[in-house]
Amino acid sequence: MILAGCGGPISTAITDAPRSAAPLRLAALNALDARVARVAFRLSDANAALCPAIRQSAGWALHAASQYSEELRPYAQARFGLDGDLPGLLTVPAGSPAAIAGLQEGDLVLAVNGRALARGPDRREAAFEGLAANIAVIDRSLANGSTQLTVRRNGAEIPITVTPRRACGYEVQLNPSDELNARADGRRLFISTALAGFAETDDELAVILGHELAHHVLRHRVWNESGGAARRENESVWRAEGGEGGAEQQADRVGLYLAARAGYDPAVAAPFWRRFGASNWRVRFPQIVHASAESRARSLEAVRHEIELKQRAGENLVP
Ligand SMILES: [Zn+2]
Repeated sequence: MILAGCGGPISTAITDAPRSAAPLRLAALNALDARVARVAFRLSDANAALCPAIRQSAGWALHAASQYSEELRPYAQARFGLDGDLPGLLTVPAGSPAAIAGLQEGDLVLAVNGRALARGPDRREAAFEGLAANIAVIDRSLANGSTQLTVRRNGAEIPITVTPRRACGYEVQLNPSDELNARADGRRLFISTALAGFAETDDELAVILGHELAHHVLRHRVWNESGGAARRENESVWRAEGGEGGAEQQADRVGLYLAARAGYDPAVAAPFWRRFGASNWRVRFPQIVHASAESRARSLEAVRHEIELKQRAGENLVP
């Protein structure tokens, strides 16, 4: 999105800043992760018909001990029963294929279709590769349909068959960062912990993630993948992307439709932007790529009106 222009650094390992005690930071991070995963699942599930890339999704959010910093890891292991690179279920959104299959938060995935996943070596540094490799094994099986998992729950090993559903084919990732930022890179959506925390409700989070998902729906990924400062200095690019009717305004419009289609309240978008603008000087004035918070709020009011007219008339919410 947004704010600082759909840009910013990517990190996949979960690290931490020395601010509060490790268990508190872990709890806050996990709570945000769960919220982001829940909203992302609903958006991806409800908008599969509009997404150019589709995947078979279980709807869960997975994490692993190896992904946490040395300081947070013992607490993550104790709280969730995590072990090495083995994927644990951090979030099982209501109504998701994972929930329907009977999976629960805290389950640890040991095997897929009878084949053991790799626990990996003990590492000091936080790393994502081991978990990513295990997720890839699971995703390959889900792509072919029903998948049998062996999970550890309260010390017992339980077989559970999960039947995935078509969903938008993008990973959503929460990046620990103080920057108020979100972005889309063509395959994934990223949102910073600061921005996810700024969204007070799931409806507000759906406005942000809807905007990012809209960049995928609108196939803006080429720009997002390469959109660095050099390109943003080009005035014709600015007009095409950030000006009236540009890519960002399109993403705001389509994003609000995506949120409404997933059952979120489109009325929160304009007040959210005004609150955001009032709290963050960078969005109070028009930026190179993104219009000012106030002009975005006004455009979003118009889109909200359009959506509500369609809802009242019982029409399909197609942007
Ligand atoms: Zn954007």
